[in-house]
Amino acid sequence: MGQVNTVSSAIGQGRDPASLRRHNLRALLRHLHLHGPTSRPGLCEVTGLTRSTIGDLVGELLSRELVREEGAPVTVGRGRPPLVVTPHEDAYVLGIAVEVDTIGIGRMNIGGSLLDEESVKHEHVAGDPAASVRQLTRLIRRRISKANTRPLALGIAVPGIVDIQDGTIASAPNLNWRNVRLGEELRRTAGFAEPITVANEARLAALAEHRRGAGQNSSDLVYVSAEVGVGGGVINNGETLTGTSGYGGEIGHMITNPGGRTCRCGGAGCWETEIGADALLRHAGLTDPADRHAALADLLAEAEREDAAAIEALRALCPSVATGLVNLINIFNPERIILGGLLRSVANQVGTELDASVRKLHGLNDFPVSIHPAQLGELAPLLGAAEHAVDSFLRQL
Ligand SMILES: [Zn+2]
Repeated sequence: MGQVNTVSSAIGQGRDPASLRRHNLRALLRHLHLHGPTSRPGLCEVTGLTRSTIGDLVGELLSRELVREEGAPVTVGRGRPPLVVTPHEDAYVLGIAVEVDTIGIGRMNIGGSLLDEESVKHEHVAGDPAASVRQLTRLIRRRISKANTRPLALGIAVPGIVDIQDGTIASAPNLNWRNVRLGEELRRTAGFAEPITVANEARLAALAEHRRGAGQNSSDLVYVSAEVGVGGGVINNGETLTGTSGYGGEIGHMITNPGGRTCRCGGAGCWETEIGADALLRHAGLTDPADRHAALADLLAEAEREDAAAIEALRALCPSVATGLVNLINIFNPERIILGGLLRSVANQVGTELDASVRKLHGLNDFPVSIHPAQLGELAPLLGAAEHAVDSFLRQL
């Protein structure tokens, strides 16, 4: 009876033998990507598939040079050590992080190791993505020529609002881009045939922290990163929250101070105006510094050296940071909150005060959420773009 039901429900879901096989291949490779080398018996255990099915699937992955098999490092008991299925070192994706001033590009293999990475000056022309497309094409080709094989997929992180359905950058204000189809442009002008995904950098950073950083082993988390702007991402039950079009997660523009300062989005009193770089610099007595980025970097370095005035500026930010976090805690009930950018310094230097501010506003003393500094630093968007690329490869496997 159970067997019959299983079969009929599989057919009912459109799972003909071929699509069931692809589904199992994806599950196997996804496991190897997230959890690393695994023996065949181990794969049987985590997937619930039979030995012969695993043997068959591993055979296909071997023939496609996505995995290889090697002897286990230690022999347990007598007999032949089990073979361990390992991601193939030549199976990689390209992760690209487009920033206003820089472009980062690196290769990540199946298994999540960053094989190489470089960051170059972004030669962008405000309002015209063509120059960026040409530069990206050169960088991608150079990176591929250094490898033995073509990438499985490409993932691009951008500082803008991206339609997740087709990868259109609806708006990237700091680059003055509107309705740019970056992936399609790269395919059209450079002929890249591999899947190309484009997504918001903060959402991708959240994905990277979830899989490889401070959010590992946590399926529900909120990531917030503040620089000049404030970005974030929500991982809900292991999946990135996107909303209908992929615009979901713009937590920097939730209003935490109605009638407050004008935000670059056109609104007033957005969280970004209360906890971004300008707010922190104001608390440090620095209004309109000549170079905002340099002033922020100096201030955070001083805080790291325990400079009293810099620590005080971070402390003054805590009530505003807590206001937004309490809203996010109430809406999403995350297990962890991960703070990046200048908020990483808040978590590191004045974490106790931040915790106290959150608890005071929330009213519950023992709500189950912990606040952590981000672990992946500036590489998070690039790593997230690479993770997104792996997902897109797995979808079409
Ligand atoms: Zn805003």
